[in-house]
Amino acid sequence: MPDKTAMVKCLVWDLDNTLWQGTLLEDDEVRLPESVRELIRVLDSRGVLQSVASKNDHDHAWAKLEELGIAEYFVLPHISWSPKSGSIRRIAEELNFAHGAVAFVDDQAAERAEVAFHLPDVRCYSADQVAELAGLPEFSPETVTEDARRRREMYQAGFRRQAAKSGFTGPDEKFIRSLDLVMRIEHATVEHLARVEELTLRTSQMNATGVHYSQETLVRLLDDPRHHVLVTSLSDRFGPHGAVGVILLELGTEVWHLKLLATSCRVVSFGAGAVILRWLVDQAARAGAHLVADFRRTDRNRMMEIAYRFSGFGGETCPCLERLPVSDVGGLERLHLVPTPQDPPATMDLIAPDLGSSPEIRFSDVLSPSPVA
Ligand SMILES: [Zn+2]
Repeated sequence: MPDKTAMVKCLVWDLDNTLWQGTLLEDDEVRLPESVRELIRVLDSRGVLQSVASKNDHDHAWAKLEELGIAEYFVLPHISWSPKSGSIRRIAEELNFAHGAVAFVDDQAAERAEVAFHLPDVRCYSADQVAELAGLPEFSPETVTEDARRRREMYQAGFRRQAAKSGFTGPDEKFIRSLDLVMRIEHATVEHLARVEELTLRTSQMNATGVHYSQETLVRLLDDPRHHVLVTSLSDRFGPHGAVGVILLELGTEVWHLKLLATSCRVVSFGAGAVILRWLVDQAARAGAHLVADFRRTDRNRMMEIAYRFSGFGGETCPCLERLPVSDVGGLERLHLVPTPQDPPATMDLIAPDLGSSPEIRFSDVLSPSPVA
């Protein structure tokens, strides 16, 4: 039985007498009700993806969706004469969604039964229910993040990027350079926090501490002048990747304390973690402060440790470490670095604030590290 409480991440539409009124191959004209056009727009703005499973002539039906001005809202449309359960199965596979996150709406009871039989976790709705879908809890996420609003755009960019990668012959680095990547690092706002919290929870491989920061904690830190909560987003010539990283940093005059760095697993191949660390090292070098990063080994975050070590963080002792408050998180290590100015990244453009220009930062050269005995 479908799980009634899980959120729907993709709604798959039948076309004839469901999305539009009329049968494309029989009637002269089909009609798109304004209420359906509005529903499509509303679900899209909530981050619910939409697709099509319709038994129709593909080119004819797609041309009609374009003519109605709604084709852009649908990802991975399956318009063919094959069974709809197969179409929906492939849509779920290509989106990497569980069947329980997929919904299907069709006016034909036989089509819904065929889908329900082969894909029992997919939630099926009749065309009579279209008017009420937007009000159902499974279509009403509690918070809609900036990334959710752009989810369809991000998926469409992802499909184009993937197609370009498949057709690309040559080393990975050359492909990455061909993307024209732009990384933006900016101070988080309250609107970012849902996504920031999500990143701290979901990015197990590239999370330096595995410590969960709740939205309430993060809101308090936004107002603390010593703390910087920074959010990193990536885009390229295919479109946005969305928010892909979070940095929690406490600035002191002599030491900058990197309490958390987490980046999305989706962008590991672009070296996003290393680019962020390099920028931080450069910023700290300009401010004349040492850098200390909290690190807690988990069974998943070895890649993050490598990124820190590769950026020069080590286990040496230094007087600055004593100035940091003792942490109550068990198993926490403090990795230390005396920063030096860094070159800008070679693989992407970086747009980032100048943290060192904050008035509370002053140059200091009183501290010097001593290597581990
Ligand atoms: Zn130090």
